[in-house]
Amino acid sequence: MTEHGKTPVTVLGLGAMGTALAEALLAAGHPVTAWNRTASRAEGVAAKGASVASNVAEALAANEIVIACLLDYDSVHEVLDPAAAGLAGRQLINLTNGTPGQAREMAAWAEDLGAAYLDGGIMAVPPMIGSPEAFVFYSGSGTVFGRARTALDAFGGTNYLGADPGLAPLYDIALLSGMYGHFIGVIQAFTLVGSTGAKAREFAPLLRGWMDAMSGFLERAAEQIDDGDYGTDVVSNLAMQAAAFPNLAKAAEEQGVSAELLAPLQPLMDKRVADGHGAEDLIGIIELLKK
Ligand code: NDP
Repeated sequence: MTEHGKTPVTVLGLGAMGTALAEALLAAGHPVTAWNRTASRAEGVAAKGASVASNVAEALAANEIVIACLLDYDSVHEVLDPAAAGLAGRQLINLTNGTPGQAREMAAWAEDLGAAYLDGGIMAVPPMIGSPEAFVFYSGSGTVFGRARTALDAFGGTNYLGADPGLAPLYDIALLSGMYGHFIGVIQAFTLVGSTGAKAREFAPLLRGWMDAMSGFLERAAEQIDDGDYGTDVVSNLAMQAAAFPNLAKAAEEQGVSAELLAPLQPLMDKRVADGHGAEDLIGIIELLKK
């Protein structure tokens, strides 16, 4: 930390996200040393006050805290493997998107080289970085999280999940799974209504209102999951839903639209009903997904 309470940070990777992170650090007054494979992409952050390292070894030598934000874990290895000796004594914070297994493997690899490791999952798009809406999941070394905290606060909210480095990518991917499930329904709804020639922007308020109302099921579902009881207070039982669900595919076919995004749900519903859970809630399908 500098005498002004600022934390010098090295940023490896200046794509859309790495640039946003570096700019947020600079805006908060933290000294930044940046490196990017394509050197010209460093010009923007250099103009805002970052020092630009000419190679990875130089970037690692510049600061104890090193943030990597590259395309994927393979590219992190491609960047760090040849400069691995420079990781000793470093606090490596990897904000590259990946899986829990990749994060655990990279933590073990970094620790073998004498670096402490913190993984992160960024829940924001680049323009949101630094705003109150942005937040990042962290997991791995609590020491690194504590040491880097003033710098990490520059990105938005922080949520430290614990010592297992796999937790940040797990929670990241769980939220993304929720998001993509939501997108699937929204895409299908727009496609169906669009098949009549209706304008999507006219349908959007109806869809928004419905999705907002339906999101209220989430807390009730959480209680049912925690209690392992999918059968109380059921207002829309699974047998009724499984009987009506084929209409989603039939309506799509009638309108000349594919139902392939929704199709995987029907066999799960049918199996759950066949297993004797027709009087319960849809959420009981969770039992069929556990391997
Ligand atoms: P970009 O495609 O904009 O940038 C990719 C970065 O990775 C560039 O710096 C690129 O360098 C570098 N890179 C790729 N392959 C290699 C390699 N083999 N060796 C060295 N450097 C390499 O992606 P983003 O910045 O948007 O994303 C970075 C990470 O952040 C990803 O893991 C992404 O999933 C995650 N993320 C992104 C979000 C977003 O909305 N953008 C949201 C949340 C997470 P070069 O300039 O030389 O090509």
